[in-house]
Amino acid sequence: MTGKTHASCGLLVGALTLEYFHTDLFTSVTVITLAVISSLIPDICHAQSKIGRRFKLISYLIRIVFGHRTFTHSLLFIGIIIFLLYLIQTPDYYLSSIVLGLLSHVILDMLTPRGVKLFYPVPISVKFPIVFKTGGLVDLSLASALSIGAIYVIFQPSIHRLLLNWL
Ligand SMILES: [Zn+2]
Repeated sequence: MTGKTHASCGLLVGALTLEYFHTDLFTSVTVITLAVISSLIPDICHAQSKIGRRFKLISYLIRIVFGHRTFTHSLLFIGIIIFLLYLIQTPDYYLSSIVLGLLSHVILDMLTPRGVKLFYPVPISVKFPIVFKTGGLVDLSLASALSIGAIYVIFQPSIHRLLLNWL
């Protein structure tokens, strides 16, 4: 999936996290930002990805040590992140937005023909029975649909009020 699709999905899980925890404005902005960044982090192993281009050295090192779409797309990686966040006593809403952002990335990549090494270091690729080409029509439509979903969740109370006024 493209970075755009991953970021839109990050936006959506961030929006759902706000909805669930009813966070204040400052926290909400942070939750959304963390969710979007986390939804892009697993692709740090791709030199050409949005995040890989920004952190060239880390991207290079991860690629050399682990290879593409392996460690950073695995349950092991997510488990280590959860453990570290837990150690520094990250509040639940930040922890959820980060973990959901990472998970959303892995799940979306499982919808692509290459799949992901979910159980790294066990070298098996995991993917869904139905897959879509990166950058294809489904990928692009998904990015739009996820963004619209996210905007709806964020502005849902206002939209609701507006509709009530009209009716
Ligand atoms: Zn990926």
